[in-house]
Amino acid sequence: MAKLINVFSWSHSAATDFELCRRKRYWSKYGAWGGWERSADPTCKTAYRLNKMTNRFCLYGVAAEDAVMWMLKQHQAGVATTVAEAFDQVARPQLRKAWDESKEKGWRQVAKAACLHEHYYPQFCDLSDREIMDTIADVVKTCLANFQKDVLPRLAGITPDMEIPIAVVGKGDPEHFELEGVKIYAIPDYVYVREGVWHIVDWKSGKAKPEHGEQVALYALWAQIKHGVAPENIQLILEYLQSGERMEFQVSAEDLVMVKERIHESVQDMAQYLQDGDIRGNQPMPKVEWDMCYDPELCRTCSFYELCRPELKEALGPELEH
Ligand code: SF4
Repeated sequence: MAKLINVFSWSHSAATDFELCRRKRYWSKYGAWGGWERSADPTCKTAYRLNKMTNRFCLYGVAAEDAVMWMLKQHQAGVATTVAEAFDQVARPQLRKAWDESKEKGWRQVAKAACLHEHYYPQFCDLSDREIMDTIADVVKTCLANFQKDVLPRLAGITPDMEIPIAVVGKGDPEHFELEGVKIYAIPDYVYVREGVWHIVDWKSGKAKPEHGEQVALYALWAQIKHGVAPENIQLILEYLQSGERMEFQVSAEDLVMVKERIHESVQDMAQYLQDGDIRGNQPMPKVEWDMCYDPELCRTCSFYELCRPELKEALGPELEH
């Protein structure tokens, strides 16, 4: 098999990680690379495993998104469904599988097995297993109920031939486009075209955050560059399924120039942490050059805490774990 190459790439989440903590970006993009190899050193193997860690927020987000898409497809097929059916047929099996894998530490044998931050770092979780499970189930059911009540009626006229296929994570190379020779990942949740207007929808199971606007603006750039869609023919929609809120907005050509500039600046910043600033070679500077954030709040929620722990304890003392 041909050797895999660690290609420089950019995404909204990678840029966010880089801004919050340089070391986090190092672990996820470079420290973890090759950790699947039998011959990899133990730190690399650990970084690779930790890089796959999830948490309750991601777990209920994915379950809610998969279940609402199932409800939509059932609706398009003319099959009436209930929230309970969507939960039982789609969300519950995947939540149960992930939960059991994590509790049983399945990741020790199979790298793909789920590992929840709440189980791996119990010192940072003040909820019991019962409370976590109940929270996950409650959030998913609330999202499904709001979807059925408010969103599904709005999508009633959308047929499969109006939908744009999106390459998702875990099934080949995820959705992306190129900008200035850099691979930019942009994976919208749901896109359809109605009367020439591209509706780009992102399902959110958590609270509204200012950066969500930037995230969907990146999707507008994806539509413009990859599909040649004019900005005036793009409608961006954020559906907050848990609260039932909805935000809808448009971008101008000037907005998209600003998105490009933001990506350009972020790529330049990231390049400073590469040998000779060369994103083509994509060889990282030594780990010590990637500054740690030393932010207790952030470190307590970070997958890579185990790897940073010695340095954090030395700098911050033992109270970090209390
Ligand atoms: S544990 Fe803290 S310092 Fe280490 S990568 Fe995570 S956020 Fe950064």
